[in-house]
Amino acid sequence: MLLLLIAAFFIFLILREINNTQKSIDGFDFSSKTYCAICLLIAVAAAWSPIKTLRFESFLSSRASLLAEGKAANVHCNTAFDAMFDNRINVIGHANPETGDIVFQISWCERLMEYLDQPTQVDSRTRYSLMLFTHEVMHIRGELNEQRTECQAIQRNHFAGELLGVPRSVARKHTLEYFHNEYPNHPYFSVDCAPQKAYDEMLSDSIW
Ligand SMILES: [Zn+2]
Repeated sequence: MLLLLIAAFFIFLILREINNTQKSIDGFDFSSKTYCAICLLIAVAAAWSPIKTLRFESFLSSRASLLAEGKAANVHCNTAFDAMFDNRINVIGHANPETGDIVFQISWCERLMEYLDQPTQVDSRTRYSLMLFTHEVMHIRGELNEQRTECQAIQRNHFAGELLGVPRSVARKHTLEYFHNEYPNHPYFSVDCAPQKAYDEMLSDSIW
C-alpha cells in the first residue's frame, strides 16, 4: 500500500508538471520532459511489486476456491507492514473458514512464486510453499483439526500444484518426497496419515 501511495504521488507530480507547462509560455520543454520521465520511472518502479502481488493474490484466490470445492477464498500476502498488525505472526500462514481469508506471512508468497516459476529448481523449503497453500485451503474447505488438515493437504497437493500450473507428476513427486522425508518431523504429523489408516481419504488419484 505504501508503495502504491508513493507511485500515486509521483503520478500527481507528473500531472502537476503537465498542468504547469500548459500555463507557461515556454511550454513543455526538455527539462519538463526529463522531470516527467524520471517521475514516471519512479512511479512504475514503486507500483511494479504491489501490482504483481495483487495479481498473484487474485490468481491464488481463484485457484483456492476451486480446490476448496467452490467456497470463496481470498488469499493475502503479508508485507512487513501487514505483519506488524497480524496477531498470528508465529505461524507461516493461517486461514479463517468463516471469512475465506488465507494469509501467507512475509516471504511465503515469494517462495510460492519461485516454486511455480521453476518447480524443479528449488529447495525443499521453497517447495513447502505449495503445501502451505494446500493446507490453508483445506481449512477453508472446512477442516479445523491441524493434523487432519495437513494430511488432507498431502493427499491433494498434486491437484493444487496442477491448478497453479505445476505438472501433476512433478507436484506428486515433491509431495511424496515431503511425505517420506519431512512430514515425520512436522508438528502436525500423525501416524493416522498413511495408506489404509484413519486419515486416508481413499482418493481415486491418491499419492500413495
Ligand atoms: Zn493449519
